[in-house]
Amino acid sequence: MDFVSGLRCRECGRTYPAEALHVCDFCFGPLEVDYDYEAIAAVITPERIAAGPRTIWRYRDLLPVVDDAPVDLGTGFTPLVRADRLAAELGLGELWIKNDTVNPTGSFKDRVVSVALTKARQLGFQVAACASTGNLANAVAAHAARAGMASVVFIPADLERAKIVTTAVYGGRLIAVDGTYDDVNRLCAELTSEHPAWAFVNVNVRTYYAEGSKTLAFEIAEQLGWQAPDHVVVPVASGSQLTKVRKGFDELAKVGLLAPDTAVRVSGAQAAGCSPVATAFSEGVDIVRPVKPATIAKSLAIGNPADGWYALQAVRESGGGFGAVDDDEIIEGIHLLARTEGIFAETAGGVTIATLAKLAASGVVRPDERVVALVTGHGLKTVEALADTANPTATIAPTLEAFDAVNDLGS
Ligand SMILES: *Cc1c(COP(=O)(O)O)cnc(C)c1O
Ligand SMILES: [Zn+2]
Repeated sequence: MDFVSGLRCRECGRTYPAEALHVCDFCFGPLEVDYDYEAIAAVITPERIAAGPRTIWRYRDLLPVVDDAPVDLGTGFTPLVRADRLAAELGLGELWIKNDTVNPTGSFKDRVVSVALTKARQLGFQVAACASTGNLANAVAAHAARAGMASVVFIPADLERAKIVTTAVYGGRLIAVDGTYDDVNRLCAELTSEHPAWAFVNVNVRTYYAEGSKTLAFEIAEQLGWQAPDHVVVPVASGSQLTKVRKGFDELAKVGLLAPDTAVRVSGAQAAGCSPVATAFSEGVDIVRPVKPATIAKSLAIGNPADGWYALQAVRESGGGFGAVDDDEIIEGIHLLARTEGIFAETAGGVTIATLAKLAASGVVRPDERVVALVTGHGLKTVEALADTANPTATIAPTLEAFDAVNDLGS
């Protein structure tokens, strides 16, 4: 049994049944899953959660679909790593890295897709589809294979080689589109009405997909011993993850797993080459103006973010900040994390770490705070970005003399 009471429009509050609906018929506002929190509070305990699987499905009371055999590759419960060396470099105190690079297909997208396809299967869909900047493509193709569903994945044709290979390998249809992600997304919105029997995970089942991101907050709280951090730094593409991470902490307070006065500051990280939300924040305006992306952080390259406005409000309400970092800073961020903590992140992780560094330098993220930075994708997905900066220290002849000539570590 799930605890879903229905869907609710985020704008006008009208309610709908928990079906494959994503916009309000009345005002075109996005729909959000509504739960019976009192009923959840009556049953949920740390022990009940701890008795569940070591995946996102241990939090199924707070997820929009309950299934004893979810569409799952073992996603979630990823390490929360104390990052003292990185904290020292940044002048911070208690810093943690949520290491989502180790999910089954190497990114946080496994969380949202596992939830979306479990719900899609329950609703009777047999085809999984999506518009993707790369990581979603990997996750949809893999989870569809796991579920025995057909898949149709749409990507911008200029995607990183690794993300193409790690999608195509699962055997579904992979359609490369000459255009930006925003072009691909618009095409998929049109295709959704042409193919109502296909579950486009980030279009017609987006309402359920988005809920998967809450598990980041749930895991962080559990891994901190059922305490909230003071501040989380979250990468922003469509803005869904950031919005839902905040919602996740709020829900834990609502059902009694965190203190009722829990207030987590949330800050957003974007690439300077695609920073519509960070720009709106720094200009103090309410309108997120679409941009044409130009950044190596392709997984975050959404120029017209669907949840941008909500992410902006979430950051403002929580007292957080926004930062935008250029390509060189992104590469430095990747190296900094790898060098200090032994974690290899893709360009989106570089965006988070470089933004964290900026926000720490400007005093938005403070040394007296318990801080968590979300590192959401694996570095092997974007090795091109490091072509000039990650190479052998030296190339030598196979002789002792040759090594001695380059050795700088003594004996
Ligand atoms: C998709 C993605 C995000 C954020 O996605 P939202 O669209 O803002 O929810 C963050 N990091 C990585 C690596 C991603 O692939
Ligand atoms: Zn509405």
